[in-house]
Formats: sequence, structure tokens, C-alpha cells
Amino acid sequence: FVQAEHLVKRFGEHRAIDDVSLSIAKGEVISLIGPSGAGKSTLLRLLNVLETPDSGTLRVGDAAMTFDGTPVKRARVLAIRRHTGMVFQSFNLFPHLSAVQNVALAQMRVLGRSKDEARTRALAQLERVGLAAKADAYPSQCSGGQQQRIGIARALAMDPDLMLFDEPTSGLDPEVGAEILAVMRELAADGTTMVMATHEMEFARHVSHWTCVMVEGAVIERGAPAQVFDAPEHERTRRFLSAVL
Ligand code: ATP
Ligand code: MG
Repeated sequence: FVQAEHLVKRFGEHRAIDDVSLSIAKGEVISLIGPSGAGKSTLLRLLNVLETPDSGTLRVGDAAMTFDGTPVKRARVLAIRRHTGMVFQSFNLFPHLSAVQNVALAQMRVLGRSKDEARTRALAQLERVGLAAKADAYPSQCSGGQQQRIGIARALAMDPDLMLFDEPTSGLDPEVGAEILAVMRELAADGTTMVMATHEMEFARHVSHWTCVMVEGAVIERGAPAQVFDAPEHERTRRFLSAVL
């Protein structure tokens, strides 16, 4: 369903993503693990073209793009983004909008839904993440965990075929992080196609179908979590795991 081939992204001389290929079937949950600076966030941002790859190809559903350094076509980018929802580490909510308004906004702007429809769907998604009671609260009136759940509801309200999570629990205390993981676990159980960058190794191990280990912009190892965690092939993977487990 998602096919990324030979993606490269440079920042100056630095190759943040160095020839990464990834294919994801519908309903699969992929975890990206690896040391800080490995390129996990950058890879997620390439998958919905928040960053433009320098080269490579990307297909998400029926939307496909080839990158070769020439300017990208805006319509193509939107076609890919329409398939994806992204949840950030820093929640990126609008402070002057209530929870339900935050969740409704992109639905109206990007999908052209009417105000009423966007609101109805926003309320349904807030309910899904257990936040119906906070619909009219502003982000400043919500805890970190609640704000992150608003972020998840906002992404879900776009009916994405692919959900991208960039360390959605980091910065939250463990108990609150667990609330977020519970929501993600449910999404995974519902068959949501997901890619997540995470430091939550236990979660990655139990919820994802495939784990990719990234180091210095490359996927150095990939496989079923049981294999990657219990019998890593790569010495660098072993070193990383022994440092974090
Ligand atoms: P972490 O676990 O700390 O979140 P990460 O695996 O998500 O790390 P990235 O944020 O993808 O790593 O960064 C990969 C590399 O690209 C790093 O060396 C980083 O400094 C660099 N980088 C990322 N974004 C930019 C940018 N906008 N401009 C310049 N360099 C960047
Ligand atoms: Mg990151």
C-alpha cells in the first residue's frame, strides 16, 4: 500500500536519509527504532512529503511521486497527504481554537467538508480517543496527554489510510504516555496502517508487525520484532538495544 524506494534526503552535506526503501501493506504496523539523529523523524516527514526527498520514489495508495530535485507538484503532494495523518511529538495544536475546532479545521480546509460535518466528525473522533468531555476546552486547559489525544483525533478525522506517529509519548510522564499507547494499541487492533518512531521498546515489540532499525540515515536491520529484539543480526543493533533495554 505504501511503497518508498531509494529515498534520499540531505541537509547540506549531511545525508539524513540515505537510500531508504520501505514497503507497507494495508493494516501493518511498523516501528522505527534507533539512536537519536538516526533519521526516524525525517523518514516520517518524507512519507507525507512534509520534507521533500532529494531523490527516490514514493507511492501512497493511488498517489505516486518521483523526486529528482525538480520542483514538486503541489497537487501531487496534497494527494499523498490526503492519505496520511501525522501525530507529532509536540502536539502542534492551535492555542486559540478549542479541541473540537482544532480537530475540525483541516477537514474543512483540506477536505472541503462543511462546518457541520467537520464538527460532527470531530466530536466522534474526540469520543474515540476518550475526550468527548473536553470538546470545548482550549489546549491550555488540557493536560499534555489530553493535548496529544486531540492531536490523534485531528489526524484520524481526516480518514487517513496511513497514520504516522513521531514519538507521541516522549515528554509525557509514564502514566499519561500509557494512555496514548492504549489509544494507539486500539488503532492497531482496528487494522490501522501505522508507522511509528518510538523509544517505547516494549510497545514496539508487542504492537508492531515489523521493526526497522535506523542508524545514520539507513535502515540497517528489519524484521519481526521478536527477531530484531531477541536475535539481532547487526552488531550496531545489539549495541543500541543493550543501551536502551
Ligand atoms: P530523535 O530520536 O532524536 O528524534 P531522529 O532519528 O528522529 O532523532 P532526525 O530528527 O530525523 O533524527 O534527524 C536526522 C538527522 O538530520 C540529524 O542529524 C539532524 O540533525 C538532521 N536534521 C533533521 N532535520 C533537519 C533540518 N531541518 N535541517 C538540518 N538538519 C536536520
Ligand atoms: Mg525524531
